[in-house]
Amino acid sequence: MHFIDLVTQQTRIRADLEARIAAVLDHGQYIMGPEIDELENRLAEYVGTRHAVGCASGTDALLLALMALEVGPGDAVFTTPFTFVATAEAIRLVGAEPVFVDIDPVTFNIAPPLLDTTIRRYMEESAAKAARGLPAGRPRGILPVDLFGIPADYDAIETIARRYGLFVIEDAAQSFGATYQERKACSFGEVGCTSFFPAKPLGGYGDGGMCFTNDSNLDSVMRSLRVHGQGAHRYDNVRIGINGRLDTLQAAVLLAKFDIFPDELVRRQSVAERYADLLTGTPDIQVPSLPPHTTGVWAQYSILTASSDHRQRAQDALRNQGIPTAVYYPIPLHRQTAFRDLNHPPGAFPVSEDCASRILSLPMHPYLEAAEQKSVAAILGRL
Ligand SMILES: *Cc1c(COP(=O)(O)O)cnc(C)c1O
Repeated sequence: MHFIDLVTQQTRIRADLEARIAAVLDHGQYIMGPEIDELENRLAEYVGTRHAVGCASGTDALLLALMALEVGPGDAVFTTPFTFVATAEAIRLVGAEPVFVDIDPVTFNIAPPLLDTTIRRYMEESAAKAARGLPAGRPRGILPVDLFGIPADYDAIETIARRYGLFVIEDAAQSFGATYQERKACSFGEVGCTSFFPAKPLGGYGDGGMCFTNDSNLDSVMRSLRVHGQGAHRYDNVRIGINGRLDTLQAAVLLAKFDIFPDELVRRQSVAERYADLLTGTPDIQVPSLPPHTTGVWAQYSILTASSDHRQRAQDALRNQGIPTAVYYPIPLHRQTAFRDLNHPPGAFPVSEDCASRILSLPMHPYLEAAEQKSVAAILGRL
């Protein structure tokens, strides 16, 4: 059994992939070829934003968004510790401070009530420091993650952002195609950022990413930043940027894959529903559930086991039958060596730590068959 099955997908669209790749080989514009515009236009239309900026990875998408919003040293960005490292890494790369907020135990996304209290406390502490003439952090924005492909609670997050005058950057690396209140993931906040890493719901054959925005100024700044801060022409550099372009070949691959993406979403949804039917009621297993008015893309199908021992037994039993599983993420970011200078003790974010010790992702892809899911459920039921 595959954890993610890119082979069946490739067999299905092999001819289109080859035609798309051959077109690039024929025109030879490997950097910023016509496929980039085509993909940006198609995905912006799908997501429902005015602009889309292709870039080299999901990490660069976050970096471009933060750079365009001029986030830097002295700035604080509120985010979740229960995510892939890139989320907080991007905040660090621009010199700002990631301020972690614990998660909701059902959605695994940033918990709005804790977000509100954390921002308020941070502002009070900053004001107290400033009053004593000490350097004080400046709250700038919120960087929620749509973990496992389920959108964060944007009604609540956008209300909090307005209350405190903060921007929102959506880390939609796992949620391209999901919806929240009829709006598509990637369309929330000032900039929505996604990734085309091969294992993501819309993945290329290499690295890639995209920023979505309705703000034409941010759009043009991000376009400049992704090419070394380019100005009016190639050798006019108006700001410090990065080499963060999307490859033409990746755009070509993504265009072929995007044709079947809506159908793959329907399949992902049925696979998730089948897991829920099979697993609901299994002792000591919590199946994921979608908040109201939300659809997920199931980048991962992650269950909560009863304990880390229980999880280990589940992984061993499944592996013995040739069924792969994964743990996303075993170490919350505040416990990572790279963030040790933030001085968060164990227990600082108890829900994230508890989920990290019990979470387990099961095989999940559009081509998973009912029989395969039944054998996963049978093994989990016998533990
Ligand atoms: C994958 C991922 C990223 C980074 O995307 P890359 O394309 O691998 O750079 C960022 N945030 C989250 C939540 C991710 O899952």
